[in-house]
Amino acid sequence: MSEIIDGKAFADQLSEKLTKEVAALKSELSLQPCIAVVLVGDDPASHVYVKNKVKRCEQLGIRSIEHRMEESTSQQDLLALIASLNENSDVHGILVQLPVPEHIDDKAVLAAIDPTKDVDGFHVQNMGALAVGEPGMVPCTPLGSLMLLKSVLPELSGKHAVIVGRSNIVGKPMALLLLQQHCTVTIVHSRTIDIEAHCRRADILVAAVGIPHFIKADWVKPGAVVIDVGINRIVEDGKSRLVGDVDFDAVRPKTSAITPVPGGVGPMTIACLMHNTIAAAKAQHQQS
Ligand code: NAD
Repeated sequence: MSEIIDGKAFADQLSEKLTKEVAALKSELSLQPCIAVVLVGDDPASHVYVKNKVKRCEQLGIRSIEHRMEESTSQQDLLALIASLNENSDVHGILVQLPVPEHIDDKAVLAAIDPTKDVDGFHVQNMGALAVGEPGMVPCTPLGSLMLLKSVLPELSGKHAVIVGRSNIVGKPMALLLLQQHCTVTIVHSRTIDIEAHCRRADILVAAVGIPHFIKADWVKPGAVVIDVGINRIVEDGKSRLVGDVDFDAVRPKTSAITPVPGGVGPMTIACLMHNTIAAAKAQHQQS
């Protein structure tokens, strides 16, 4: 029987634990974790993401400060805002919602964030720390994916993990996390020859491609654990719905466990953002 990994329930449990941790920080250290969320422009999806993140902060007792900036905001003004947030000791986490408008260099923006406040874990210093196994902020989606994976497969050592996708925010950090867990890791991507053959060797298959139903049933080894990171909106019979990168209904019977979309990795991403914000607040408090 294949288990459906309930990411929403796992994220709710994690959030409950984090809520208690925030309450303890407030009462014992008078410390309220605080995240500044910066949104530039009018991208509708980004507005929804920011709204959800702010709502989740409120539920957990984390303070959030929203900075909404016009689409026409200059890079200089955005960098000036980041510099002031870096300096503000009341702010423990800084998140700039991506994508930023085209005239702004997102690499420069991410590089400007103080790495200790980089709760998204996208700063090169944090990526470097992950690569060499030093402590640092770990990107939220791979971190949440790993937590879900370990909930069904606690011992990962020696497992063959195949990751489909090599983005800086999902594929690469996921590969590094799984290496830390002593997996044998293969990354496949848009230029890989015979992706299916690689996927068929996976004990753990992580899909982070951004193509609906990309992973087919005959690409999956019987008993594999499948983590579907993809979030794709499709229209079928005139109705719009979210699907993952995995052909869920066909693939599920082949697996020992699989994450659904929605309700899998998605809820874990926000929960891990809260986790990182609290960790940042604690680390900065200890340094002060
Ligand atoms: P991306 O576009 O940056 O990267 C996609 C990767 O897939 C690339 O590395 C590319 O090489 C690979 N790829 C593209 N076409 C391919 C093909 N035909 N064959 C093999 N590989 C191919 O995307 P991303 O930011 O990594 O996101 C991937 C998916 O995960 C998207 O659906 C995105 O919406 C979703 N996502 C979900 C969450 C979440 O919270 N659950 C967070 C981030 C991203």
